[in-house]
Amino acid sequence: MKYIGAHVSASGGVANAAVRAAEIEATAFALFTKNQRQWRAAPLSTETIDEFKAACEKYHYTPAQILPHDSYLINLGHPVADALEKSREAFVDELTRCQQLGLTLLNFHPGSHLMQIPEDKCLALIAESINIALAQTEGVTAVIENTAGQGSNLGFKFEHLAAIIDGVEDKSRVGVCIDTCHAFAAGYDLRTEQATAETFAEFERVVGFKYLRGMHLNDAKSAFGSRVDRHHSLGEGNIGHDAFRWIMRDARFDGIPLILETVNPDIWAEEIAWLKAQQQEVSTA
Ligand SMILES: [Zn+2]
Ligand SMILES: [Zn+2]
Repeated sequence: MKYIGAHVSASGGVANAAVRAAEIEATAFALFTKNQRQWRAAPLSTETIDEFKAACEKYHYTPAQILPHDSYLINLGHPVADALEKSREAFVDELTRCQQLGLTLLNFHPGSHLMQIPEDKCLALIAESINIALAQTEGVTAVIENTAGQGSNLGFKFEHLAAIIDGVEDKSRVGVCIDTCHAFAAGYDLRTEQATAETFAEFERVVGFKYLRGMHLNDAKSAFGSRVDRHHSLGEGNIGHDAFRWIMRDARFDGIPLILETVNPDIWAEEIAWLKAQQQEVSTA
């Protein structure tokens, strides 16, 4: 069973995210549980939590279908001690909010070395940050997203994801989310079914599908290997339709949230319907 949806707005309250997802006939959704551009947010009230849980029940969304994303400000590999501490506290707060909402996943970008420390040192800091945060929370898996490698962001190689996982003590609570636009911009070809199969064979070799907890399905305005992060609607960018059709027909992507972060929310319903339709077997007659 494929869970297919989009990163919907939670404005007006997190319960609205479930309502908006249902409106576009999504069977999965992503959301921010607080303003993603601010450090602080008021704690979730019991009322807000109850409303969210009720909306998810009403529209039949289980935690396995929901992939919350943390704040863009957090850098779990920050080279400066005070700033690292601030990010770690904010990350614990994000995990806690997910836990309170009854959610089991939290998607985040690994972190940036800001040209101040070597890559391996930064990756070790990120793993340590995850260990600290997991020790203070329960039931939520830290889901590391691959990046396009823009600026000094790490996570643009599958090896980075593997190195972080290697440093995490509780392997049952760490996973990854592969963003197709980011992978393509980082130099993983997805332009044909063959190229996509090879990219995911490499993913299996380096990281392993057992760690795959979600996908971000985005086409790319950015060029192949450009390390530039610019999303596009499915089929309208440099990836094209083939990779998405291939993913929809591969059982290794079953049972995890497959989330659109494409640029035009007005066509999300169409994109979701198209993805659902690709699951059907091709007639061999
Ligand atoms: Zn993404
Ligand atoms: Zn992106």
